[in-house]
Amino acid sequence: MITQRDIVLEFFKNNANKNVLTAEVVDWVTVEYKKRTKKPFRDPDRQIRQLYSDGILQKIKNGCYRYDPNYKPSTVSGDSFTQAQRDEILEAGNYRCCICGVSEVEGAQLHVDHVVPRSKGGRATIDNGQVLCSHHNNMKKNYGQTETCKRMYNVLYQQAVNLNDQKMLSFLRDVMEVYDKHNINSHINWDQSNRLVKPTSIHKNAKTKKASIKKARPSKDLIIDTQGSIQKESSGKLAKKLMKTSSSNINNE
Ligand SMILES: [Zn+2]
Repeated sequence: MITQRDIVLEFFKNNANKNVLTAEVVDWVTVEYKKRTKKPFRDPDRQIRQLYSDGILQKIKNGCYRYDPNYKPSTVSGDSFTQAQRDEILEAGNYRCCICGVSEVEGAQLHVDHVVPRSKGGRATIDNGQVLCSHHNNMKKNYGQTETCKRMYNVLYQQAVNLNDQKMLSFLRDVMEVYDKHNINSHINWDQSNRLVKPTSIHKNAKTKKASIKKARPSKDLIIDTQGSIQKESSGKLAKKLMKTSSSNINNE
């Protein structure tokens, strides 16, 4: 007795190593199944999705699958993502690095990363997955999630000092103080010379503000663009750019 699954798989095996559109499969299996069993095949899509989630089919894109007899799906060992999970995480992340937003179309190599690394007990669940470009994945591998973020905030913080962006400074001071409060990544220093200068006291004492901003210098492990072109860029864009500069330096890439 032939099952619905068998007949869907039969079509894929007859078309091995070809990208097959769901519609082609559905057309063929509905007719064939009726012919052989005299019964209607109501939801062939579900069988295709099941074969895919069992690791037998590969998903090429939405509505397009492929059967490759030599394909070995990732093992479901609890700490590695399956292909289906990887696809879902990539899709949720819009196929872009969650830090810099770069995509494969723009030439980046994307990685599906464990937010909490496997070495620290992070499991292969969708919730623990994120998309990173190879550059930021390397950075995270070296520094870990909170440390990578602290370094990014540090770059942004220095930039806000240089641009005298009070709103950003106020936000970033709070962020850094949260790191300090919880004693997270305390080995990474941040320039605290502006720490106690609150926006209200700045207005009362403009001279102090200027002096403290002048004093602000990047910490040792950060590279700040000193070419003068920085003033024209938004702090967000600039932070990304600077992050690349600083981290590539750190990683010796
Ligand atoms: Zn990136």
